[in-house]
Parts: sequence; C-alpha cells; structure tokens
Amino acid sequence: MSRVISKTSESYNLLQPPQDDIDRHKKATSGSSSKQYFDDIIPIGESEVREVLLREAKRHRYWKKSTVKKMQIEGLEASICLKYNLESYTEARSTVETTEAYVPGATIDAAFEISDLDLGPAHTPNPWDFEVFPATVFVDQVRVQEIPGTSRIIKCVTCSSDGTIHCFSCRGSGSDKCRYCRGTGMKSGVVHPAVAMHPLIATIPHADTSRGFASTSTAMMGHRGPNGVGGTYGLGTPMHFISKTGVPPPGIGRHDLCFVCHGAGVGECSQCRGSGKKPCSKCGGSGSIRSFSKMKIFFKTEATEYYTESPIPEKYLRDVNGKEIFCDEQPYVLPITRYPMNEINEASKRICAEHLQRCLGNCRVIKQRHSLLAIPVAQVRYSIGKEVGLFYVFGRERECYVPKTSSKCTIL
Ligand SMILES: [Zn+2]
Ligand SMILES: [Zn+2]
Ligand SMILES: [Zn+2]
Repeated sequence: MSRVISKTSESYNLLQPPQDDIDRHKKATSGSSSKQYFDDIIPIGESEVREVLLREAKRHRYWKKSTVKKMQIEGLEASICLKYNLESYTEARSTVETTEAYVPGATIDAAFEISDLDLGPAHTPNPWDFEVFPATVFVDQVRVQEIPGTSRIIKCVTCSSDGTIHCFSCRGSGSDKCRYCRGTGMKSGVVHPAVAMHPLIATIPHADTSRGFASTSTAMMGHRGPNGVGGTYGLGTPMHFISKTGVPPPGIGRHDLCFVCHGAGVGECSQCRGSGKKPCSKCGGSGSIRSFSKMKIFFKTEATEYYTESPIPEKYLRDVNGKEIFCDEQPYVLPITRYPMNEINEASKRICAEHLQRCLGNCRVIKQRHSLLAIPVAQVRYSIGKEVGLFYVFGRERECYVPKTSSKCTIL
C-alpha cells in the first residue's frame, strides 16, 4: 500500500494525462444534447415589493419609514437575470524523485522491494495507473503519495555506506573541554596560580585554535603516559603541568582537581559521546537510503459564471439566489443548446469549450456540472408626492437596489 507523505518544497514535474483520457475528452467536446428541461420562473409581485420597502425602512439604508408610507408604486416590471455556471472538477498529477533513510524492515513493503530488484529500473510504473479518489467531489484538495513499485535501496553517499560520519564538533577526536571544570582541570573551575605562573605553562588558558577547536578556548594536547596509554589534556591544566614536570603543581593536591577529568580539563565530546563519529542522519545509520517516486495530486474546481444583461451590477447578483431552472452533472456535460434565449446557448457552448480547451493535456476532467439560475428582478417605479423614482428588487432574498441616478429623489 502506498502512504501519504508530508508536504515538502520539492519541485514536481507535471504529468500529461493518459491518452485514453485525452481521447474521451476530445470526444466530449463534439457532443450535443437532446433532452434539456427548463423550469418556470415566478415573478416578484407588488405585495412582495411592499414587504421589501418596510424592511428597507427598518434598515434605514435608503428610506425612512415616513417616506415609505407616502410612497406610491406607479408601476412594476418583472424580468429575470440568468446566471449560467459551469464547474469542472479536474485532477492534475506531478511526480518527484525523493529519498529517505532506509530502516530495514520498517520503511518498505517487502513485496515491492523484491519485485524491483528483479525487474530493474527499466520497469517504471505509470503514475496514472493508480486510482486516487478525492474525499469530496468539487472540493479543492491536494494529496501526496508514494508511487508503488518505485522503491530502490541504494548506498548512502553521505557516509559511503558506513552509517557514521566524522564528528565535526571534536574533529573526530572524541574529546571536548570538560564541562564540569570548564576545561581548567581544577575543582573550583578556576586555575590555580601555581599552574598559571609556572614558566613551563606560561599563559593560561591557551586559545591556540590550530591545536584545539574553534568552538572552545581550550587547546588540546595528546599525551602518552609512562605506561604507554594515550591520554589527552588541555593546555594550562594541572595535567599539563604534571606531564612537563613529573610532579603536581606546588600547593595542589589530588582533592583540588576536578573530580570528573582528574586535572586534564578534557571530557568526552557530547556530540559523539567520545567516539569521534556520529550516526549518519541521511541514512539513519543504516548505510543505505531508499529512493522512490512520489506523486502530488491536485483536485481543483474551475468555475465560470455568465450573467445576462441586467440593471443590477454583477457584484450584487453574485450574492443572491434564484431559482435553478436547469442543472446537470456528468463526467462531461454537454452545452445547453435548447434554451429559448440563444444568448444562453451561445454562452454555454463557449464556456464548455473553454474549459475543455484549458484542461486538454494538463489535467483530466473528473466531473462537470452546470446550472442555469433565474434571478427574479422587479423594476419598481414609484412616486412620493410630485417626485418620481426607480428602484429594483431582486433575488430570492428580495434584495433592494437603488440606482445612483435616481437616489437623489429618494433622500428625505
Ligand atoms: Zn549514511
Ligand atoms: Zn574537569
Ligand atoms: Zn565528537
């Protein structure tokens, strides 16, 4: 089974959909529909306009209550604005090669591993062969998953399959300044004057970076003890003194030395725990990495709206509902051809073609749906005394729109 991999900033290569899809897609562009049914529309009546006026008076947006009371409705002209909407739910895929640490028995499906070794890299699975379904249709989403059968185990180049890398913190020596005495070798953490002033030791602490490491001020020296066992001490430490003079610094006893490093000022490197090597993070210490392909699947809805001419600006029409007089959902919808208003037929045909054209070769169409929404619009002519004006009531929500040109007559 493939599994979901977390999102990264890797660059994926966009894939062309399989030929079958392209053929199916092309075929859909040339179809025509025969059965299309359109519902009726009920216009907005005068009593409804009265209700709208009362509501608007309460809102204090256009008129006061007293103004509305004096208002006479002179004429009502019902019309509709048609909204055509096409949505195409598409799927695009892209791939990327990636690697991860190989942990034997934990990271890989054994079946894939064996088959890959047998078939070799020439057998590359087609990413389109694997069905991936969106959780919900017509909802944008992105999924990333491994392509089954692309897994290969390769040698880790970072550590040359060793599983460990050189510890840069201690330059591979495994030792660092003693953390308890801060490298002085003394119990209190402060160097004794007898050590500091001795002509063989001179200045303390040393900051000779050529012999130590840049991150600390303690220079290290290798030291071969009388019994042949190697040891390391920091410059200027009691151990340094002993190695030069053969005796402990005057006035310093064993009890004055750091109980952890015993006067050497040197401890175990905390980064590598004294080994001078660290586990390779690239391969997790296994010496091998797993290379595989993963694909990113984009499910996206493309939508195009078309409105027939209306005195109401489109930005207001977008916010209201109307009556759905036609809707259809198909793998590929066929354009509306039989609506009595040819403008709609033309728009549907054009938008359907545009969607298919845009998708061709880039993504595959999973599903399309289109609808025709009739938004009722009533043009209301009114008079208040001798003044006359015009406003509109529109949408299922019975929104009110007063054109700017007539608004000056209505302010009272
Ligand atoms: Zn490695
Ligand atoms: Zn110490
Ligand atoms: Zn180290």
